[in-house]
Amino acid sequence: MGLYRSDSSPQLWVRKQSRILDVALTRLRLGHTRLTAYLHRLGLSPDPYYPWCRTVEETIEHFLLDCPCFHSHRVVLRDRLVALGVSTFDLPTLLAAVGVHFLHQAAVLRLTCVFLKKCGQLPRL
Ligand SMILES: [Zn+2]
Repeated sequence: MGLYRSDSSPQLWVRKQSRILDVALTRLRLGHTRLTAYLHRLGLSPDPYYPWCRTVEETIEHFLLDCPCFHSHRVVLRDRLVALGVSTFDLPTLLAAVGVHFLHQAAVLRLTCVFLKKCGQLPRL
């Protein structure tokens, strides 16, 4: 939880139509994914890099915030967040709608899930 929250208070949960999205969001929140940086840490991948980003470890932060492979989907996500009045683009915002007005929290999590789905990486999360 240290990636996006500093306490264990109850958090907003938006039930998705898809179990794979529920699982992906939960794994991202817990920091236990199949991204190569984490597989490498467990000795399950020879290196921590994603094939297209050979010099940057494939962490949750890289995947969600920086990876150029998903830039176009990220631009759409950012635009939709800005339309909701959310200008912060970080893990707490994307994974738990931290700091977002309560009326928009569910929408932020839904937009994050749309991004996750469009990236086509759900089996790796
Ligand atoms: Zn990358």
